[in-house]
Amino acid sequence: MPSPVGHVLFAFAISGVPKSREVFTRWWPVLALFAAIAPDLDFLPGMLIGDPNRFHHGPTHSITAAGVFTIVLALIFRSLSKVQVFFIFAIYLGHVLVDTLAADLGAPYGVPLLWPFDDQYYIAPVTLFSNFSHGAQGEGVAGVIRDIFSMHNLWTVAIELALLGPLLWLTERYRRRKPS
Ligand SMILES: [Zn+2]
Repeated sequence: MPSPVGHVLFAFAISGVPKSREVFTRWWPVLALFAAIAPDLDFLPGMLIGDPNRFHHGPTHSITAAGVFTIVLALIFRSLSKVQVFFIFAIYLGHVLVDTLAADLGAPYGVPLLWPFDDQYYIAPVTLFSNFSHGAQGEGVAGVIRDIFSMHNLWTVAIELALLGPLLWLTERYRRRKPS
């Protein structure tokens, strides 16, 4: 998986960086950020049993989960426009798809994209991003935290900034040009 930095950069490339006037006055920036990292909340149940990686890259990394997540948010936040609801879905699914483009060192490789209809794991044939290291399955919370703050992960984030920074810059430029 890419780092949370990579996921957020990609999310904003999809939906646009929230305007400064929205940041403290609207829910939208919070929801966009939440959708960008929500699939990785599958670390939480593992943390409770002292094995954070236990359930990672499970059903939350699927198209079905993206749909359910979007419907639940749309029901809670009734003021979201149709476009915003679509962006929530696109950001969540974007996270899942970006995960398939990152190096994966532990089987099963990739994500269960079509769960629950198909248990197969999918990974892209090309690897664009380095893996954001977060310990191995069976490793305790302390080991996972040590791994997260490693030089390897600094390098992972640097690659993401180099690849996704220009993408975000280009999409923002395009949005500013577009008459709205
Ligand atoms: Zn993920």
